[in-house]
Amino acid sequence: MATAASRANESLFDRPSESERVRALVDSGGALRDLVDATSAAIYVKDLEGRYVLVNRRYEELTGLRREDVVGKTDIDLWPASFAAALRVNDLRVLDALAPLEFEEQGPDPNSAVTFLAFKFPLLDDDGVPYAIAGISTDITRRKIAEHRLRESEERFRVLAENAQDFIFRYRLKGQPGFDYVSPACEAITGYSVDELYGDPRLIFNLIEAMHVQMMRGEGRAGLRQAWEVEVARKDGSTIWVEQRLSLITDPSGDIEAVEGIARDVTTRKQVETQLAHQALHDALTGLPNRRLLIDRIGQALARSSREGSHVAVLLLDLDRFKLVNDSWGHSAGDTVLVEVADRLRNAVRGADTVARFGGDEFVVVREGVGGAWEAARFGERLVNAVAGSLPIGGEEVFVTASLGIAVGGEDDTAEALLRDADAAMYSAKERGRGRVELFDAEARIRAESRLVAEAALRRALERQEFVVLYQPIVSVGDGRIVGAEALVRWDVPGHDRVSPTDFIPLAEETGLIVPLGQWVLDEACDQLRRWKDAGLDLASLSVNVSARQLSAGDFSAAVSHALRRNDLSPSALSFEITESVLMEDVEFSIESLVGLKALGVRLAVDDFGTGYSSLAYLKRLPLDSLKVDRAFVDGLGTDPNDSAIVAAIVAMAGALGLSVTAEGVETERQRDELRLLGCRYAQGYLFARPLPADDFARLVAEQT
Ligand code: C2E
Ligand code: MG
Ligand code: MG
Repeated sequence: MATAASRANESLFDRPSESERVRALVDSGGALRDLVDATSAAIYVKDLEGRYVLVNRRYEELTGLRREDVVGKTDIDLWPASFAAALRVNDLRVLDALAPLEFEEQGPDPNSAVTFLAFKFPLLDDDGVPYAIAGISTDITRRKIAEHRLRESEERFRVLAENAQDFIFRYRLKGQPGFDYVSPACEAITGYSVDELYGDPRLIFNLIEAMHVQMMRGEGRAGLRQAWEVEVARKDGSTIWVEQRLSLITDPSGDIEAVEGIARDVTTRKQVETQLAHQALHDALTGLPNRRLLIDRIGQALARSSREGSHVAVLLLDLDRFKLVNDSWGHSAGDTVLVEVADRLRNAVRGADTVARFGGDEFVVVREGVGGAWEAARFGERLVNAVAGSLPIGGEEVFVTASLGIAVGGEDDTAEALLRDADAAMYSAKERGRGRVELFDAEARIRAESRLVAEAALRRALERQEFVVLYQPIVSVGDGRIVGAEALVRWDVPGHDRVSPTDFIPLAEETGLIVPLGQWVLDEACDQLRRWKDAGLDLASLSVNVSARQLSAGDFSAAVSHALRRNDLSPSALSFEITESVLMEDVEFSIESLVGLKALGVRLAVDDFGTGYSSLAYLKRLPLDSLKVDRAFVDGLGTDPNDSAIVAAIVAMAGALGLSVTAEGVETERQRDELRLLGCRYAQGYLFARPLPADDFARLVAEQT
């Protein structure tokens, strides 16, 4: 009986092992055929004449031909001639080489993209003689299309890059660094040629700022996505502004492999921008910082001063009588003066000081770290002296002077407050005489504030006609008879006392309101003269005061002749009084405007004579009729021999020039007697009458006849 063990031995000896069975099957060729049929590549064997001996299933699928229709045929039998020829050529190459070769073979339809990668090799017998050609062909159509597309798009981008105005580059950082690509625009932008850039990897540092290199290495990489505006040094040493965009190309492990960049020349835009920025903060005429920049600078200075515990001085300088320059010589002359003053100021300050044009004829200098008010005042004096000086304008030497106000501040102040204080101080400098320096004090601030209030009130008063004209008799010293009158304006502030012209005329002059006000007085005086004439009161002459600004503004002569004509008055009935100091301020201009006025036939008088340092030479050239001796010299007549001597001299000189003389401010009989002795013909003063309302004046004249 067979045991289990013997059965096992039996099987061991009687039955072939499983692996032997498999090997036998494989050797029989069945397995190989299955393998060959199962692959995704087409496999085929041809004899030396090209007749198919074997094709696999994939071949059938790809060609749509059945195995039995293929075997024994050649490619020529199966396919269009050109396709068949191409295959045959490759087969022959393999036979020629006697080695495996790889080919890309197009499909039979020349219009389709179907492509195979064919791996072909000769089959050799034991003597090494080829007896067949075997091939394995894989369909690579999809890959080919993808490659083709890639090539096409690369080409498109290349064309774009080559033609772009922007400089496009790719810089390799891995391995040996260097430019992978530079577009031809590099030459226009950097001055380096394509070849130079390819040749010298270090030139990248001319294009990319160190900062960006830093960023590439690590931190802030995300920031590189933005566009940068950087100044780039060109090959020739000049610099241009480029707007640059960089992107980092990383490899799959995240390491930076390359930088790609686009750089665009934005120099022109940058220049325009800088120019606009400059224009926004600077005065076009003088090139100095403007008000906006000034306020900013003062703010910064104050911030620093609070840290350092120092002081900031704000010095506001206003040209004296600048309006006169503009009015007399025109605005371009005014511009010349402003430019010159700007230069003088620039030369007078230190580098750290700010000189700004504040507006109109006002300049502001800011100095930091001043020790105190007196140091600032000394600096102010220097500025005023630096600005003062003559300047040739229209063939004449014009003397420029300026008044200056100073405010010194520290951490608790604001730019606005300091400017306001300096402005107030400047006004008080003007009030005390021109060409002066004044330090701000609280009193000045109040004066400045009340000045603004007063100006507004004056303007309103003009609109509401709150002014009246009084008439002060001018008498003959010999017999005391009234020969004329001077029209003197008053301001009747409703609910208040009458305001004296000495209180508001200077303000009216400063603000230009004197022009409409003076016009009103002139019209009023002429109307009054007409009314008196109609009432039978015939006055030899009526004096009207005019200010320099009236002479320089518009056509004063036309206004005068209109007022005369309207009232049917003879021009000789009007006498205009112009203060001596005003006449002498600008003699040539005075001569010119007075000659025009004189041509109308009106009479002209110098007011307040003796206070304005007239030169005799000039007096001779002015078309004058009379002098009004200032009250200051009349005051001491009969008591102060000096006054008598002065008046005597004036009378003698006037006689020589053919001018009549009127003494102002005669209050005593003693003064009148002295005048009579000195040969002064006319007088005016409280002794005879105060300035009177028109009706009172008329009554006074009526009484004396
Ligand atoms: P002014 O032209 O020299 O006028 C003479 C001033 O002396 C007047 O002052 C007059 O009231 C004053 N006065 C006359 N007699 C005496 C006297 O005996 N003693 C004293 N202490 N003063 C006397 P008022 O009216 O206050 O005018 C002051 C100045 O204002 C005038 O000086 C003139 O320069 C100016 N003014 C007045 N009205 C006008 C005007 O309509 N236009 C212009 N531009 N200025 C005017
Ligand atoms: Mg007068
Ligand atoms: Mg006077």
